[in-house]
Amino acid sequence: TDRAGVIPRKPRPGGGSVRKPAYQRILLKLSGEALMGRKAFGIDEEILAGLSKEIREVTEMGVQVALVVGGGNIFRGIGSGRNLGIDRASADYMGMLATVINSIALQEVLEQNGVDTRVLSAIELRAIAEPYIRRRAMRHLEKGRVVIFAAGTGNPYFTTDTAAALRAMEINADAILKATK
Ligand code: UDP
Repeated sequence: TDRAGVIPRKPRPGGGSVRKPAYQRILLKLSGEALMGRKAFGIDEEILAGLSKEIREVTEMGVQVALVVGGGNIFRGIGSGRNLGIDRASADYMGMLATVINSIALQEVLEQNGVDTRVLSAIELRAIAEPYIRRRAMRHLEKGRVVIFAAGTGNPYFTTDTAAALRAMEINADAILKATK
């Protein structure tokens, strides 16, 4: 397969080549650090724009895309919490909110690139995102919308890798792809 997970087909006699996607539905996990690029903190706009274009190309092939975004570029429960001397569970909630910040950034840039998106949050944030409802997520995917799962699993003491595995199982994804730094 090539970089986009696509099996290149031989050219058809007398016609163009048909590229059939290897997967129908994928879950892509982006770590917070993947959004950071060469910055020491936060989000790199060029990385965000590049990712959005690649995600758009994949959706244009007819692949349904769900995203789980980490938060380590902004706040990570264990390390950042310990430095501040705060309770682990509270620090983890801060980490989950960091994933929401990244999810909204990704949503905005995807939409600017013409991709229809929905952010579904595991922690209720009514003014910002839809609540996570499995059947709703499936419906969005069937309609070709990119679904962004924010706030991890909604539980402290977990990571967004767990959220990626959990959501991938829930939505019957064909593959989990993980992009870290
Ligand atoms: N987190 C959590 N529960 C979850 C997902 C994330 O408590 O289900 C918190 C945890 O503190 C974690 C932080 O959110 O360190 C950011 O997520 P993660 O470290 O997975 O981000 P990444 O390393 O992918 O950037």
